[in-house]
Amino acid sequence: MTKPVDPLGLPAEVFFERFRGESLTFDDLCILQPRTIDFGVQEVDLSSRITRNILINSPLVSSPMEDISEYELAIAVALQGFPAVIHYNMTIEEQVEQVRKVKRFENGFVKDPITLGPSDTIAKAVEIRNQTGISTLPIADGGRLVGLLTKNDYSGRKHAEMTVAERMVPLEGLGHQIVRDDELPEEDTARLSRANDLLLESHAGVLLIVNGSGAIESLVTRTDIEKNEAFPDSIKDRHKSLVVGAAVTTSLGETRERAAALVSAGVDFLCIDSSHGNSSHEKAALEYLKAEHPDIDVIYGNVATAGGAIRGIEWGADAIRVGKGVGSICSTSQVSLGTRSQITATYSCARAVREYCSEKGIEPRIPVISDGGYATFSAIGKGLLFADAVMLGSMLAGTDEAPGAIIYDRQGRKLKSYKGMGSLEAVVRGSAARYDVQNFDDYVAEGVVGTVRSKGPVSQWVPQIKTGIRKCLQSLGYRSLEELHQAVFSGEILIERMSEAGKKEAGIHDLVEYRRDLPLD
Ligand code: GDP
Ligand code: 5GP
Repeated sequence: MTKPVDPLGLPAEVFFERFRGESLTFDDLCILQPRTIDFGVQEVDLSSRITRNILINSPLVSSPMEDISEYELAIAVALQGFPAVIHYNMTIEEQVEQVRKVKRFENGFVKDPITLGPSDTIAKAVEIRNQTGISTLPIADGGRLVGLLTKNDYSGRKHAEMTVAERMVPLEGLGHQIVRDDELPEEDTARLSRANDLLLESHAGVLLIVNGSGAIESLVTRTDIEKNEAFPDSIKDRHKSLVVGAAVTTSLGETRERAAALVSAGVDFLCIDSSHGNSSHEKAALEYLKAEHPDIDVIYGNVATAGGAIRGIEWGADAIRVGKGVGSICSTSQVSLGTRSQITATYSCARAVREYCSEKGIEPRIPVISDGGYATFSAIGKGLLFADAVMLGSMLAGTDEAPGAIIYDRQGRKLKSYKGMGSLEAVVRGSAARYDVQNFDDYVAEGVVGTVRSKGPVSQWVPQIKTGIRKCLQSLGYRSLEELHQAVFSGEILIERMSEAGKKEAGIHDLVEYRRDLPLD
């Protein structure tokens, strides 16, 4: 252990032992700075793990909630380096479609490109473009590639009644844009890199890859090369599609069918979404999923105790989600028990998971996700002292990409609606399984319906959150989460309890009025 930098602060282990029997949260903690800061804020590496096998570039995940995680937000946050978990308050088909939309957004090779036939009308191409945003359409006839239609080849208004054959560029005009699949290297990375080079040299928007019999096999688009350059932090699977997760319930009957459909749509991981985790239903769902889909990582939760977390690992979890009764829209603490303040819950679970994994030789260690209650950047920084990722609800609900329109209140403030998944409104629509609801007559809501400030587009708001997290690490002298965790659990980082007077002092005080430049309150 490195020499402590201050005689009064306590290492995490000693600190939490000292407050044994007390549930502490973000504002209760002062974190002392152990190291000299000798690097810039942008040098802080935010990479982490969301599940055992899935690496992410920002230590965040967006919550499976109706007012947050649908495909638009999932795409936007994956481009920023972290995944969304698509919520399940929709039919299986709808949820599958959401996953498909995220997976289709960006690709290396587009393996099953949408095609048209030469006798189709231009109106059909316009319809595809309106529905999917895809405008580059190979034209196939009897299984063979015969031409290409792009948005430059027609006007939706002028040519709607014409046939594709009349407007497409025929095969003879596409020589520089076509390559045979056996002309590309076999190895995946080299294959994509060669295809991208050919595409860039061709001056065209798309490279078409055909097999020996002239059928379209896949394509590579210039748009994808541009997306790749514009979003260097984005998280992708091995096919270069964005990473996305999806929520399933603890109800095994439905989860069997939902999970199978999501997995065949290409979902990267599943999350058993239960506010009262560590139940026999959740055990059954987790064991089933791990047996049936061993290659798909599963997030288990929500728990708030060390025992609950360890049980999840024993049942097969690939990540532990921690947080009970702490979400901004959550009223669980008023209607049931089992809740715990978020920092104590996160520390206790993270420490137990670390110890268990090192004892059992589980490598890489099972990540811990701290879920709920995060409303400031410093709170996220404190959660990440112990957790591998923080799950966000209210901080993302106000973004443009979250579902729902912007509303204005009487003072003209821009707001978006945000409700708990245990609110009556959400439960009636589908999260009943999550709250074990059989009969709505005596249902006790575990969440409220509210509004949050509009935060603008993810591409502007999330970089601020990321800078906020980087500042937290930099202010203690650590360049990565791995370094930070090493320091926390070896006792290098010292903690003190903030007094009530200290909390007042830490807030903004003694001003007649003030203005904030962040949309946090
Ligand atoms: P443009 O960028 O507006 O010209 O439209 P494109 O049709 O070239 O759009 C390509 C984008 O959609 C890329 O990011 C592709 O990875 C993605 N995409 C997903 N599925 C398909 C598909 O079936 N065909 C095409 N062309 N692109 C697809
Ligand atoms: P937030 O980031 O808004 O503070 O918290 C989001 C988290 O609250 C979600 O990830 C989820 O775990 C939890 N949550 C969502 N809806 C409800 C609800 O209606 N009741 C309870 N108890 N928790 C909820």
